[in-house]
Amino acid sequence: MTQLIIPIFVIYRGCPNRCVFCNEKKTAGDFPDIITESAFRETVHRYLKNTRRKADRTQIAFYGGNFTGIDRDYQTKLLGFAKPFIEKGLVDSIRISTRPDYIDSEGLDLLEKFHVRTVEIGAQSMVDEVLNLSNRGHSSADVRNAIKILKERGFETGVHLMAGLPGDSRKRFEYTVDEIIELRPDTARIHPTIVFEDTALAESYSNGDYIPMTMDDAIEYCKYALIRFEKAGIPVIRLGLQTTREMEENGSIIAGPYHPAFRSLVEGAVFLDMASSLLEFAQRRDEGVTFTLSPRDVSSFRGLNNRNISTLKERFGLTEISVKTNPNQGRGTLVMAACGKIYKKQRSAISFQ
Ligand code: SF4
Repeated sequence: MTQLIIPIFVIYRGCPNRCVFCNEKKTAGDFPDIITESAFRETVHRYLKNTRRKADRTQIAFYGGNFTGIDRDYQTKLLGFAKPFIEKGLVDSIRISTRPDYIDSEGLDLLEKFHVRTVEIGAQSMVDEVLNLSNRGHSSADVRNAIKILKERGFETGVHLMAGLPGDSRKRFEYTVDEIIELRPDTARIHPTIVFEDTALAESYSNGDYIPMTMDDAIEYCKYALIRFEKAGIPVIRLGLQTTREMEENGSIIAGPYHPAFRSLVEGAVFLDMASSLLEFAQRRDEGVTFTLSPRDVSSFRGLNNRNISTLKERFGLTEISVKTNPNQGRGTLVMAACGKIYKKQRSAISFQ
């Protein structure tokens, strides 16, 4: 299903506290503090006009801040801005992102009335100590409760997770992924923790109390989460933060594993694992091999700047790696031909120690 999401950011609106990592002025970009109806209409029309092919589903998304923590009158006003677009059939429904400790039945009545279909919950971690150290101000029990209520009320649910928060570890992150899978949200978004200027995390970093993840660890953690969610049938609709102009300004990012094409790095790591396990299984060394895959997987297989090809050559001493495409081959399947034999690997078969 193709989707058009029209984002409207309500920066810091409804937030009861400031989470240690959060700098929405950088991550959301240049959105005004007050959203006027004319600016709202202009944004929605611009997205609708610039979309070449009509998407299967179009949603207006209120992102940033804590939507259900916003004063109810202002929530009603914002939702009311979207109403005419829904009534005219230009937009199908609304999605919001919010905190897990601000979900209650009265608030959901309001969302339902205004055609909110999807509620994304900022869970970030399912380890209470990590949540406390991140000054989230909610518990893992709040996340469980929020998803349960939303599902009972028939909303689509999404969950946001972060890797590498203060106090996080590989074991704790894996626990978080397991716990979220148990809750069966409809989608997940994951990104590694980045140290932005003007945050408490930047202070912890400068005095040595917080050590960010390395890029390699961030890729490994997120690869683990991606494959586990995929196996559970939960699409990961975003990996890594969306780049904004403000993020790229000098000094905005102080430290941490930021890359504008983070998902490509993770996808590349997935294909590197698949190719390595086939080569290990076939015990191929010092010769040439041919890999065949779906045309849509080629760039992930090659990795950024063909990095996977050079890594495989070096790691296995291969003289030549040929890459062929087969449009009939399903995505996420890698076929290797070597010495007259065929070997096959699905990305869902990747194992983790
Ligand atoms: S609740 Fe969300 S928007 Fe508000 S400070 Fe925390 S991370 Fe930022």
